[in-house]
Amino acid sequence: MKKDLMKVYEIDASRFKGSALDVVHPATIMEVRSVVARAKRIVLRGAGTGLAGGCVPLNGLDVVLDMSKINQIGNFNSERRTVEVEAGVILDDLQSYLAKKNLEFPVNLLNNNVCTIGGMIAMDIAGSRAVKYGKTSNWIKWVDVVDGYGNLHRKGVTELSDYAGMEGITGVIVKACLKLSPLKKRTASLIKVESLEEVVLIVRNLKRNPAVSMIDFLDKKISKGLELTKDYYLIVEYEDGSGLLKGKEYEDLMEMSDKVYSFVVNKGYTRIEDFRIMIDKFVKLMGWLEGVGIPTFGHIGIGILHPCFGRDDEKFIPEMMKLVKRLGGQISGEYGVGILKIKFVEEGDKRILINVKKRTDSLNKFNVGKMI
Ligand SMILES: Cc1cc2nc3c(=O)[nH]c(=O)nc-3n(C[C@H](O)[C@H](O)[C@H](O)COP(=O)(O)OP(=O)(O)OC[C@H]3O[C@@H](n4cnc5c(N)ncnc54)[C@H](O)[C@@H]3O)c2cc1C
Repeated sequence: MKKDLMKVYEIDASRFKGSALDVVHPATIMEVRSVVARAKRIVLRGAGTGLAGGCVPLNGLDVVLDMSKINQIGNFNSERRTVEVEAGVILDDLQSYLAKKNLEFPVNLLNNNVCTIGGMIAMDIAGSRAVKYGKTSNWIKWVDVVDGYGNLHRKGVTELSDYAGMEGITGVIVKACLKLSPLKKRTASLIKVESLEEVVLIVRNLKRNPAVSMIDFLDKKISKGLELTKDYYLIVEYEDGSGLLKGKEYEDLMEMSDKVYSFVVNKGYTRIEDFRIMIDKFVKLMGWLEGVGIPTFGHIGIGILHPCFGRDDEKFIPEMMKLVKRLGGQISGEYGVGILKIKFVEEGDKRILINVKKRTDSLNKFNVGKMI
C-alpha cells in the first residue's frame, strides 16, 4: 500500500501514532491464514476505534491486518438463538439483521455504527448495558482463531479467555458464534441529582431493579456541554415501561448520550481514561477529579468512570492511577491496556499475560509491544 494511504492505519481513536510495514485487507478467512503464515509481525485492526493504541503498528515492523472485509453473517439458528458472524461485521449491521428476527445482541457501545465484532471480542467489551448483560464474552459460544502458523482452531467457552479481552496479542479472531437475546422495547429517565452521595444511593437502589439495563453518569461539566443544566445527571434505561421517556423522547436521550465522546474530544479532552471502582469509592475519586478539574462521565452501574484529560492535564494521570489502585480499583475497566497503559500493569498480571502469550503465540507474531 502507498505510504500516504497507510497513514490512516497508523493511528487509532487514542491518537497514538505509529508506523506500518504494510497494510493488507484480506476478504476471506483463507486469505487471513495465508497472510498470517507469511508475515513476521502482524497488528490486528477492526474499525480502529480503540482508545489505547492496541491496533497501532509500531516502528515500521508490523503488517496491519485490516479485518473489515471479513464480514459475513450466517447460520442463524432461531431455536438456539445463535448466529455466526465474521470478525469484521459492524455491530449496527448485525443488530439490523437480527431486528428482522425480533432478536438482538445485547452488548451495546456508544459507537455501534463502526466498531467490529472482532474488536469487541478482543477487548471483551462491557459497554453501557453491562449492568444487566455483563461482558461480550458472556454472549459467545465459540470463536474461530488463526494462530501464527496460519492454522485455524475452534475455541469453546473453556478456552475463550485466551482470546476475549486479550487485545489481539494471542491470535486472530476470524469468526464467532454469538448468543442472542429477544429484542427489547426500552424506555429511559434522565435524573438530576443534587450531590455525589445521592448518586451512590440512587445507583444502589436502581441496581436492585431487574428491569434496569443501563445507569450512566454525567458530571456537571459534561452535563453543561450537552446543554443540560450544570448538575449531576444519571441516564437510566429500563426494559419495561418504567422510564419517563418513551419512543422518540427515549431515542433523543440516547442520541444525546452518544454525543458525549464527540463533545469531550472537540473540547480538546483527547485522553479518555476508563478505571473501574467499587461504588463506595465513587465519592472519593470524583472529589479528587473535580479538585483537579477533570470532566468525567461513565457507566456508573458497573463502576466504570471515564475522566477526560486535555494535553495539559495528562500530568495528573499517574496520580489518578495510584489513587485508583490504592482504593482497590482497576486501571482499565473497558478500553484495555494497548500501548498507553503498559506501564501501569501490575507485575503479577504481567506474568500471567506472558504465560498466555507464550502458550498461544509461540512465534511472537501478534500485536507485539501491546499489553506486555
Ligand atoms: C466514540 C467512541 C465510543 C466508544 N464507546 C465505548 C464503550 O462504550 N465501551 C467500550 O468498552 N469501548 C468503547 N470505545 C472503545 C472502542 O470502540 C472499543 O474498544 C471497540 O471494541 C473497538 O472495536 P474496533 O473494531 O474499533 O477495534 P480496534 O480499535 O480496531 O481494535 C481494538 C483491539 O482489538 C484488536 N483486534 C481487533 N480486531 C481483532 C480480531 N479480529 N482479532 C483479534 N484482535 C483484534 C486490535 O488489535 C486492538 O488491540 C469507544 C470508542 C469511541 C471512539
